[in-house]
Amino acid sequence: MARIPVGFVGLGRMGGPMAAHLLTAGHDLIAFDLDGGALAAAEANGARRAASAAEVASAAEIVLVSLPTPDIVQKVVVGEIARGNRVRTVVDLSTTGPRVATAIAAELAKTDRIAWVDSPVSGGVAGARAGTLAVMVSCRRDTFAEVEPLLARFGRIFFCGEEPGLAQTMKLANNLLAAAAVAVTSEAMAMGVKAGLDAKLMIDVINSGSGMNTATRDKFPRSVLPGSFDFGFATGLSLKDVRLCVEEAQAMGIPMVVGSAVCQLLAVTNATFGPASDFTNIARVVEQWAGVEVRANRQT
Ligand code: NAD
Repeated sequence: MARIPVGFVGLGRMGGPMAAHLLTAGHDLIAFDLDGGALAAAEANGARRAASAAEVASAAEIVLVSLPTPDIVQKVVVGEIARGNRVRTVVDLSTTGPRVATAIAAELAKTDRIAWVDSPVSGGVAGARAGTLAVMVSCRRDTFAEVEPLLARFGRIFFCGEEPGLAQTMKLANNLLAAAAVAVTSEAMAMGVKAGLDAKLMIDVINSGSGMNTATRDKFPRSVLPGSFDFGFATGLSLKDVRLCVEEAQAMGIPMVVGSAVCQLLAVTNATFGPASDFTNIARVVEQWAGVEVRANRQT
C-alpha cells in the first residue's frame, strides 16, 4: 500500500538524519532546504526534491520542519507552508520558544484546517543519527495520535500537554541546564588545573562523585580535554536557546540569576569565536581569563 507523502523542510545537522530515519522506515518523503547540498544528500537517501516549502505543503498532509531560529520558523510556516493546499498538520522539531510557538499556533488556527505540533528534540546530532533523541511534544491529543508513529522514529517521546508551547518550555529548561553545565564546569576545571591538578584526574573524580553533570560526562572528555571543540552544537544556537529561556522567565516575573550569567558567557563566546563555533568553546573563554588550558595528558 502506497504511503501518504510526508513533507520535511530543513535538512541540516538535525533535520538531515531525522529525514533519513523516515526514509529508512519506508516513507515517501518530499523535502526542501535552501541549501542545495543538504537537499542533494536527502535526495541521495531517497527523498523527492521540492522547489519550495510551499510546494512541500501542496504535496504532503503532514509537514515537519527543523529550522535554525524562531523568526525563520515563523516566516517559513506562516508565510510559505500555510499556503500549501494539502497540508493538515505542521510539526516543528526546531527550538522555537513557547511564545513564537503559541503565535504560530494561533495563526494556523485561523486557517481552520492546519493543526500545529510543538516537537523540539534533545540529544544532539549523535542522538539524531542514532534515533535516540528525547522528543518533547505538545499538541491536541487527536493530532498526537496522528504524528506519534512518525516521531517515534526519532527517539523516546514525552507528551508534555495539549497547550501550545509547553514542549518548547520543556526544551528551554533542558538547554539552559546543558549550557550551564558547560559554563560552570569550565570554571571549576580552570581553577583546579591552574592550582596543579591533572585535568583527566579531575574529570574522573567528578564523574565518580557528586559534581557529575552532562559536561563532565560527555562534553569535556570528548571535546575539551582533547582540545577538539567539536561536540556538534553551535554557540549561536545555544545562545539563542538560553536567551529565549531567560526572556521567557523574565516575561513570567521569575528572576533567573544563574541563567542570565550563562547567557552572558555564551554572548562572550559568540563574540569571540563566532556563532558557528562549537558551544564547548565556552571553556576556551574561561581558559583565556584563567591563563591556563584544560587538556588531557599534559606534562607538568
Ligand atoms: P542547521 O543550521 O544545521 O540546519 C538548519 C537547516 O535549515 C539548514 O540546512 C538550512 O539551510 C535550512 N534553512 C534555513 N532557512 C531555511 C528556509 N528559509 N527554508 C528552508 N530551509 C532553510 O541547524 P541544526 O543544528 O540542524 O538545528 C535545527 C534546529 O534544531 C534548531 O532550532 C536547533 O536549535 C535545534 N536543535 C539543534 C541541536 C543540535 O545539536 N544541533 C539539538 C537539538 C535541537
